[in-house]
Amino acid sequence: MVIDSNRQETEVLVVGGGPGGYEAAVRAAQLGKVVTLVEMDELGGTCLQRGCIPSKALIHSAGIVHRIQEVAERGITVEGAVKVNAEQLQVWKKKVIGRLTQGIGFLMKSNQVTVVKGRARFTGPREVQVEDPQGGSRVVAFQHCIIATGSVTAELPFLKFDHERVLTAGDALALKEIPRHLVVVGGGYIGLELGICYRKLGAEVTVVEAAEQVLPGTDPDLIQVLMRKLRKLGITVHLQAKARGVGATGLQVTLGDGQEAVLDGDRILVSVGRKPYTEGLGLAAAGVQTDVKGFIPVTDECRTNVPHIFAVGDVAGGVLLAHKASHQGKIAAEVIAGKKSACDWVAVPAVVFTDPEIAYVGLSEAAARAAGHEVAVAKFPYTASGRAMTMGETDGVVKLVANKQTGVVLGVHMVGPEVSELVAAATLALEMAATVEDVARTIHPHPTLSEGIMEAAQQIFFGLKGH
Ligand code: FAD
Repeated sequence: MVIDSNRQETEVLVVGGGPGGYEAAVRAAQLGKVVTLVEMDELGGTCLQRGCIPSKALIHSAGIVHRIQEVAERGITVEGAVKVNAEQLQVWKKKVIGRLTQGIGFLMKSNQVTVVKGRARFTGPREVQVEDPQGGSRVVAFQHCIIATGSVTAELPFLKFDHERVLTAGDALALKEIPRHLVVVGGGYIGLELGICYRKLGAEVTVVEAAEQVLPGTDPDLIQVLMRKLRKLGITVHLQAKARGVGATGLQVTLGDGQEAVLDGDRILVSVGRKPYTEGLGLAAAGVQTDVKGFIPVTDECRTNVPHIFAVGDVAGGVLLAHKASHQGKIAAEVIAGKKSACDWVAVPAVVFTDPEIAYVGLSEAAARAAGHEVAVAKFPYTASGRAMTMGETDGVVKLVANKQTGVVLGVHMVGPEVSELVAAATLALEMAATVEDVARTIHPHPTLSEGIMEAAQQIFFGLKGH
């Protein structure tokens, strides 16, 4: 038998080793498939290398610095000023990423997933060519393929990234010096998270957002609380403002009132959205279609228009979040292994790691009304939470939306400390089609922030006729 080392066969080929790809690979292997994963960079994808994990490592650290400065009122002080060594912070951040990257490598090994380092390009509907970093190339033929190539940051034509002054989020996460004045173009979740982070580390921060509110689409009741805190932190936010370009003196902006301004940022973070990453992937050779924005449309089984080729995660559009990617990855693997699996989008949580945090799952009040529900709404303020008082963090509200007739919980939208953790319980409630009675009668531990969700459910349940 002649073994061609430049040609390899696999049952399932996964292209991309981010949360969508590596979760898909593990699940397919667990279900008995022979799996090959091709990754051109480090395992872990955007999420681990330049997204969720590095940003949360810095945000958490900045939170500590800020907290120390805040607690003087309680008699807790440090001698002299709290100092931040940005270079050392980067070293620590890299250590965290390194450990987690190693962990994924171990996960691949222990599940017998073959990892091939290189860039994959379809050369037909059943094979890809993989170019490795050393200039070598090999063909991998497959029975099924899962495309998980993710997304990249979108660039504004008049504000090109130079990675020195005009930065991507990835650049901003790798700064070895705290900027003097960070101007953030785009008040979405990435821009706000990083803006708050650098403000707490000592930078002056200005946010330029084209829409009427930051985090467009988020419940305005939550935004109100966030905006109050942004002001308290000393962050300037220009709404309905448009960046026009950058010159020697700074970022040129048309403000909401039509006035022209120049913002003298030494660093300008542009965070105006992400686009699917399919460059050089050769989708046409495989017959895989994309939509007008370049995303790959998929069914609830994550199938593309080519039945044996699947797509998951950011490249497949929808919400561009890591947990959505990994959920789809597992579904695609199960469908390939012959299981009756499909994505159900009723309960997809979203978290914004601002200060205070924002987290939600299910329908907002406005969306529930627009969908024709007769709606019952309850709001529980953090000022009424014993736990929030003990923490000294009372900026927040839990807003619960239910169907007035059936009592079924339709959505939970929150702003406040640690709502990133609370939203998992709310997600479970939606996933199980819980009613306000279920949540109201669930015994919650005291004193915890989680009681806020129970309190909101009780407001509705005890207010319903007959209870
Ligand atoms: P990716 O993670 O982008 O992985 C795709 C992989 O495919 C990459 O490793 C890439 O190198 C590889 N690849 C691409 N093309 C090829 C090819 N032709 N051949 C071989 N390999 C290829 N989401 C959250 O849920 N929570 C957060 O807190 C959060 N914070 C974020 C913060 C920032 C700053 C950013 C930028 C993103 C954040 N996200 C967050 C979004 C999250 O990172 C993405 O939704 C997630 O990484 C998508 O996973 P994926 O597997 O689809 O793609």
